[in-house]
Amino acid sequence: MQQFGELKENVNLKDYNTYNIGGKAKYLIKPYNIEALKGLIRYLKENSIKYFILGKGSNVILPDEDYDGVVILLSKLNHIEIKNNVVYAESGILLNNLINELMNNNLSGLENLYGIPGTLGGAIVQNVEAHKTQISDYLIDIKYLEDDKIKEIRKEECNFVYRSSIFKKNKSKIVLSCTFSLQFKDKNEIKKQIEEIVKKRIATQPLEYPNAGSVFKNPESIPAGKLIEDNNLKGYHINGAYVSNKHANFIVNLDNATSKDIKDLIYYIKIKIKQNTNIDLELEQEIIKY
Ligand SMILES: Cc1cc2nc3c(=O)[nH]c(=O)nc-3n(C[C@H](O)[C@H](O)[C@H](O)COP(=O)(O)OP(=O)(O)OC[C@H]3O[C@@H](n4cnc5c(N)ncnc54)[C@H](O)[C@@H]3O)c2cc1C
Repeated sequence: MQQFGELKENVNLKDYNTYNIGGKAKYLIKPYNIEALKGLIRYLKENSIKYFILGKGSNVILPDEDYDGVVILLSKLNHIEIKNNVVYAESGILLNNLINELMNNNLSGLENLYGIPGTLGGAIVQNVEAHKTQISDYLIDIKYLEDDKIKEIRKEECNFVYRSSIFKKNKSKIVLSCTFSLQFKDKNEIKKQIEEIVKKRIATQPLEYPNAGSVFKNPESIPAGKLIEDNNLKGYHINGAYVSNKHANFIVNLDNATSKDIKDLIYYIKIKIKQNTNIDLELEQEIIKY
């Protein structure tokens, strides 16, 4: 497998997700480039080897069990090309790094998403949103890998809705790159906006502890955090997994929580909210099953 990328064996997945949970993976590989990723997927399929794509692990709940397959990290797919206001970016780039690069080129549009700790690929899968900006807002098209072929799809065909897209529904599609059309703006103004957003995040989110962002989607009637707080669940915990005292829609890993602790806490919150309010909370984070 080494010919396709940087390969590690027996890797502790705790170091590869923002909850700091999970067992070990037999292999973890960072493909050198898009062609190498294509070769790798072909090789894994031909040899019936299990695999899954992991971004920054900031929206997933990995299992406690070990994984007898290959975790693929796209962090080497981080190339950007800028021509006027049109930007091509590969999916392994961290969103913050992309936004910084855009700012340095006086390009505006995505700065409201600053502080989301994931990759561009993860952002597309989930159609991330912050401060009324969705990643899909400035998108033109996407290249993805499926059935050994590189395909191109226009934004309009991606079914972008609240925290979902066709890439979330169909796991056989691997996002390779995106093209955005942005607006010109003075970099100092963009910088100011980013600083404001970072301040807000620090003030409202428990960034000092391992977490994976919002646990539940917001129901139409009330933000999930307010609902959980109103039902006196702030600070409730199962072993090391706590409902954050700072923001009730965050679960924080305060003391070596396991994946099971986090899933049990999620279940407990869902049941309590259903019993007390008859509202069905829907998970925003993704429970990974091997
Ligand atoms: C502190 C904090 C704040 C957050 N704030 C926000 C916020 O404001 N708004 C918001 O919407 N989210 C937020 N999130 C959630 C999270 O950061 C986003 O959902 C992010 O886009 C996930 O990206 P990732 O690279 O970490 O994906 P991962 O968690 O690694 O993966 C998520 C899913 O995407 C798949 N995937 C990843 N890359 C690809 C690819 N290239 N092709 C196909 N599938 C792929 C994975 O297989 C997995 O199914 C926050 C999280 C944290 C920890």
